[in-house]
Amino acid sequence: MVATLFIDGTWRQASDGGAHDVHSPHDQRVVATVSQATNTDVLDAVAAARASFDSGVFTSWTFKERSALVAKIADLLERDADLVARKESDDTGKRFIEAQYDIADVIATFRHFANLGAKERERSVDVGLAHVTSRIVHEPLGVASLIGPWNYPLLQIAWKVAPALVAGCSFIVKPSELTPQSAVALMKIIEEAGTPKGVANLILGPGSVVGTPLINDPRVDLVSFTGGLTTGQTIMTAAAKTIKKLALELGGKNPHIIFADADLDAAIDNAVTAAFLHSGQVCSAGTRLLVERSIHDRVVNEIVRRAGQIRLGGPDDVMAETGPLISAAHLRNVTEYVEKGIAEGATLLVGGKRSEALEHENGWYFLPTVLDNCVTTMNCVQEESFGPVMTVEVFDTEAQAIALGNDTVFGLSGGVWSSDSEKAARVAGALRHGTIWVNDFGPYRPQAEWGGYKQSGIGRELGEHGLGEYLEIKHIWTNNSPSRSGWFSDPAQGESQ
Ligand code: NAD
Repeated sequence: MVATLFIDGTWRQASDGGAHDVHSPHDQRVVATVSQATNTDVLDAVAAARASFDSGVFTSWTFKERSALVAKIADLLERDADLVARKESDDTGKRFIEAQYDIADVIATFRHFANLGAKERERSVDVGLAHVTSRIVHEPLGVASLIGPWNYPLLQIAWKVAPALVAGCSFIVKPSELTPQSAVALMKIIEEAGTPKGVANLILGPGSVVGTPLINDPRVDLVSFTGGLTTGQTIMTAAAKTIKKLALELGGKNPHIIFADADLDAAIDNAVTAAFLHSGQVCSAGTRLLVERSIHDRVVNEIVRRAGQIRLGGPDDVMAETGPLISAAHLRNVTEYVEKGIAEGATLLVGGKRSEALEHENGWYFLPTVLDNCVTTMNCVQEESFGPVMTVEVFDTEAQAIALGNDTVFGLSGGVWSSDSEKAARVAGALRHGTIWVNDFGPYRPQAEWGGYKQSGIGRELGEHGLGEYLEIKHIWTNNSPSRSGWFSDPAQGESQ
């Protein structure tokens, strides 16, 4: 019997005893067995979150007290970092060392929100009346459903849990069914840190089953979701019925622009990292290369050479540079995406298929792939593959580079390489994406906001705004010298003005 659901301060098995195995994407071995929640379990979790919120057991804490709790969670995560990283690496198939970097980022996220929460949040407004005090206060928003993806499982959940705790919300976490283990570990730490009963709840299972009540239930005030565009659309439609607040972090198809005057050695090396890190399973991956025509051959030849040398391997392969795709289904999707791209007229320069190496035969390994001669109308240019597939387009002018970079329904991130700082700044300003890197690609910090323009999402995580998503803003107007309003006439008092 497995009891990995955390509901109302208690570890429980599913109400029907249901459980499911988690398989390693590296070799398909079973790495864990976890509970699979039923609809009843989800409703119990929502009820617990609602009751804890309405009771004031956590909302009555000050921001400083809640920030201290979040700082303690960061300390405990530091203590257990390798243990959590191992679970993350088992579930995702990513190298253990990469999982260790991710857990360091998780800890930095908790520390950032702990620091932010300790800041004064109230402000007064000068309303121009000596007898009136006007205050703007921030209050916890309510009950939140926090739904995460499988690519950076704990990090994406941490971007939600840390601000929700600082704000004073009660919540239900639902990680991807493919990568549940690190969320279980985090919930144990949240419990150990002394979070009041019912504030933090954990539900496990497939989104189509356990996700639906999390977004439909009228007792939930906010859904914060990170995942694919289609699921985001489903959630937005369902949330409309009860006008829930929404925070959506969706996909990206991120332009990476290289001008001829760039430091090409650095640009090419970063282009390889941007596209093939974590086998392209990164929402901000720079998989759409836009290169100035005059340097196309030089840049692309070098990228192809480098892509062909990338070493694939499992969690403990010390020679490996990146790992497998998450599942057999995802391997099929990426394969089809490449086949369709070739059918549309793209030229396959390297990769394009599953790794045939003997040591990869039980894993979902896909070779780093470059598709050249792409044009913006192709599906492979417009759709997110979420795999190690770079598409290449050429441009001749700055205006064309900007137009191509914006010719997408997505708007998550982009990069621009040029040694002309004014040109680079113009392009960075003109690109309609939430994060732009100039002469770099990929770094982020919890202190800076993260999120998408257009169909890449709604709202922002991290930074100051990432806390704001979990707060309601209230204006309190206090008249310190009450008098009649005098708007309507009152014959008993004489005429109104
Ligand atoms: P997904 O949309 O398939 O699943 C995400 C989560 O939603 C999972 O927990 C899943 O169980 C749940 N879910 C699925 N259907 C649901 C439903 N009907 N109701 C409620 N929940 C449901 O996405 P994924 O494949 O896990 O993740 C990959 C996607 O995530 C990519 O598109 C990627 O770009 C995106 N992503 C975005 C960011 C960002 O910061 N913008 C970060 C990471 C990943």
